[in-house]
Amino acid sequence: MSEALEENVNGQIDTAQWRDGAWKAPFGESIMRTLATPKRMLVRGEGCRVWDIDGREYLDFLAGIAVNALGHGHPALVSAVSAQIGTLAHVSNYFSTPSQLELAQRLRTITGAGEGGRVLFGNSGAEANEAAFKLARLNRGPHGRRTRVLALHNSFHGRTMGSLALTGKPPMREPFEPLPGGVQHIDSTIHALEAAIDDRVAALFVEPIKGEAGVLDLPAGFLQRARELTEQHGALLVVDEIQTGIGRTGKWFAFQHDGIVPDAVTVAKGLAGGVPIGALVTFGRASDLFTQGQHGSTFGGNPLATTAGNAVLAEIERADLVGNAARRGKELKQIIREFDSPLIGAVRGHGLLIGIGLTDGEAHRLSDAALDQGLIINAPNESSIRLAPPLIVGDAELADFRERFGRALASL
Ligand SMILES: *Cc1c(COP(=O)(O)O)cnc(C)c1O
Repeated sequence: MSEALEENVNGQIDTAQWRDGAWKAPFGESIMRTLATPKRMLVRGEGCRVWDIDGREYLDFLAGIAVNALGHGHPALVSAVSAQIGTLAHVSNYFSTPSQLELAQRLRTITGAGEGGRVLFGNSGAEANEAAFKLARLNRGPHGRRTRVLALHNSFHGRTMGSLALTGKPPMREPFEPLPGGVQHIDSTIHALEAAIDDRVAALFVEPIKGEAGVLDLPAGFLQRARELTEQHGALLVVDEIQTGIGRTGKWFAFQHDGIVPDAVTVAKGLAGGVPIGALVTFGRASDLFTQGQHGSTFGGNPLATTAGNAVLAEIERADLVGNAARRGKELKQIIREFDSPLIGAVRGHGLLIGIGLTDGEAHRLSDAALDQGLIINAPNESSIRLAPPLIVGDAELADFRERFGRALASL
């Protein structure tokens, strides 16, 4: 994007006043204390690169936390969203639109839910999980209401009260208790699951790879065993694919690596390439649980967001970005393993969702050093680095990553 267009995009805002860090004090004063003051203010992007307000360029290997699947300013997304906002941006759920129906059909296809599948649209990941939690409450058993829900320790499912109840991180939960009841967190082991499950369990919530916990893989065979046990006890298996879905791991959805069929999948981040969206996709009998009026959202499924979703999915298909994620993910892991640094431990994850375990707790220092070298990566905790680049990365970006990450490591 040209600088003239940048001025135009930033509209009436006088950006000059905020150069050289002058934006930081007003940020600290006016934005809620839930957010730490960020390290940089960004003003434009193109492909896998972004620029800050002082004109410095960065290679973006975080993609807004696995959101910008097509990178920044992708022509397919820009033209679709521009055309849609020029006609119908929003219509309310008293009306349908072609883009809403098209995206629902596409989601049924790529998840494998097929003709028995249904889609409920919302605006974020937390909302998708909130809907799945409500769905679980409707799953009645032989003794009537099922009172228990299982989720995993150290999991992340969102920040609203319901999704927070599912989240397995006590420091996030405790200030907001009491949370919606009945959720029990268990260790991410087959043994713990076998010990905890019974006929009073309404649902089991699982992230196939725990992104927020530092990109932690589940133990081998966990999802298959979870499928068997939930089936046996009539519990719903809900797979949270908010971070792992939409091609990121080298399949459309991470659960597809394990060959299982879940009862519900939640999707958000990468689905509309940066336009807010979330969706709950149900399979089989789980599609019949909600009845008319039991859930809804004013913005959910609006033509702007669903047009963005269709554009993203169509481009992923056209350019085989699922295949690219698988291939580039392998190359990226190889590049990381080739660094002869005592700091680098296990390399985790799948496709283009990669975790680097650090041998000491220096993850924030390393991500700051990378930023200084023009590379955006992320430290979800002190011992892990997370990489989630746009699915469009190619040779040039990987070469650039190698160089900038190497410089960051050397600078520590
Ligand atoms: C990001 C994320 C969420 C929450 O999504 P929001 O859009 O931030 O509400 C839930 N689950 C997982 C696995 C996530 O990565």
